[in-house]
Amino acid sequence: MTRGRNRGGNSRNSSKAPSQAILDLPVTKNEDVEVDIIGLTHEGEGVGRVEGYTLFIGGALPGERVRAKVLKVKKQYGYAKLVEVMVASPDRIAPPCEIYKQCGGCQLQHWSYEAQLNWKRQHVVDNLERIGKLKVGGSSEGEIEEGIVVHPTLGMNDPWRYRNKAQVPMGMAEEGGLIGGFYARNSHRIIDMDACLIQHDQNDDIVRRVKAIGRELGVTAYNEETGEGLLRHVVVRVGFRTGEMMVVLVTNGAKLPRAEAWIEAIRVQVPGVASICQNVNTKRTNVIFGDETRTLWGRDVIYDYIGDVKFAISARSFYQVNPVQTEVLYGKTLEYAGLTGSETVIDAYCGIGTISLFLAQHAKRVYGVEIVPEAIEDARANAALNGIVNAEFEVGAAEDVMPRWLEQGVTPDVVVVDPPRKGCDERLLETLLTMQPERIVYVSCNPATLARDLRVLEDGGYRVKEVQPVDMFPHTVHVECCSLLVRKDN
Ligand code: SAH
Repeated sequence: MTRGRNRGGNSRNSSKAPSQAILDLPVTKNEDVEVDIIGLTHEGEGVGRVEGYTLFIGGALPGERVRAKVLKVKKQYGYAKLVEVMVASPDRIAPPCEIYKQCGGCQLQHWSYEAQLNWKRQHVVDNLERIGKLKVGGSSEGEIEEGIVVHPTLGMNDPWRYRNKAQVPMGMAEEGGLIGGFYARNSHRIIDMDACLIQHDQNDDIVRRVKAIGRELGVTAYNEETGEGLLRHVVVRVGFRTGEMMVVLVTNGAKLPRAEAWIEAIRVQVPGVASICQNVNTKRTNVIFGDETRTLWGRDVIYDYIGDVKFAISARSFYQVNPVQTEVLYGKTLEYAGLTGSETVIDAYCGIGTISLFLAQHAKRVYGVEIVPEAIEDARANAALNGIVNAEFEVGAAEDVMPRWLEQGVTPDVVVVDPPRKGCDERLLETLLTMQPERIVYVSCNPATLARDLRVLEDGGYRVKEVQPVDMFPHTVHVECCSLLVRKDN
């Protein structure tokens, strides 16, 4: 690997800080280096190697040769800033978003969509092999004799404007007046934003209008440092299938001055809005919502569909943000569950019961468990809304509730798990191994914990057959997977 030209070979050690000289690292802080990029981290930074030493370089892509300035050196690895792309990847593209560099919400817009999808699959494969010590056979069943099939990532035909929810922090312009947009990378300074290319157009449009209304009404934005000011966030949701819209004003304080003027202006400017809510959050926290939500006008909820199932979505409900890909993911889940109508199914980490209700139509009985009480209330309400009577829901930690179900004689044929990023609790995995369902469908948003848990299930008598990565969040580093496990003795 060629070293930076602007540094004489002989002066090498003399320019090092003493501690670095002892460690004898091949780079020093502030040095310019030329690096080949050999990979991408799960956070989307390029991975470069200089004489075996790893440098993380934001903005650099695999296959590129770049010039970078070393910012920070640690014993095992360091960070460098991209200065110049000397040999660009054939997959490098101009990011379509004007604020891509400042924002940080997306990490992969400078990479072609196809390259993103290929990388997401490879990232899953790498995790399964390195962390799970699992053998990956190939990307299609015909291709392999043994090992796990990891399919090509299912991407979107049009990977833009896919989000149904915008949560926009508000701030004040230096010259005064309400602005709202995003926090500048690694900071809490708010930068005004007019368009976000991964948001539904309607969300962008509504946020713009609500900001203009706020300016007109002379509303102040909440200031994190002083704890003063009124408007903290504007949250907007749109039902892709129904077209229904909700506007939530998150305020620092219960009083909303000129509430009538707000409502009137939003109704005029956002024709067809179905729900206008206020959420009160007076806490010094960066959690968006407070505990109290009031409906200012219209309904408490908007409706939307996933497949044939109708969902009521309130201001604070968890609801998948990419409805198009959610159907793809749940379609895979249903396929892997292999239901014929006679099965008992457990849906662990069920949220508002989206997967449970999606599966209930094809199963004898579905049990859902979830730790957030409000989510279970939503799940029950959604079951009733759809006339689904063969699904029941319980509040609690899945690792506590499932052993209880086991004692009560619940013997599932299929268990679906869809845990948060940290993966499944160990006790839940143990319970699964005792319950011995025919099939386990593991839906995961974190390939690392997925790989860890799949190893436990493999050792406990299950075989991981297939893994299907699904791109729920194009242009970001997130990868969702649906995996099928079957009992080895079958
Ligand atoms: N399956 C749902 C939600 C998945 S997100 C959907 O597709 O919409 C993961 C869920 O797990 C969250 O709702 C979170 O509140 C819940 N959760 C986190 N820890 C849990 C635990 N120990 N037991 C049960 N649920 C838990």
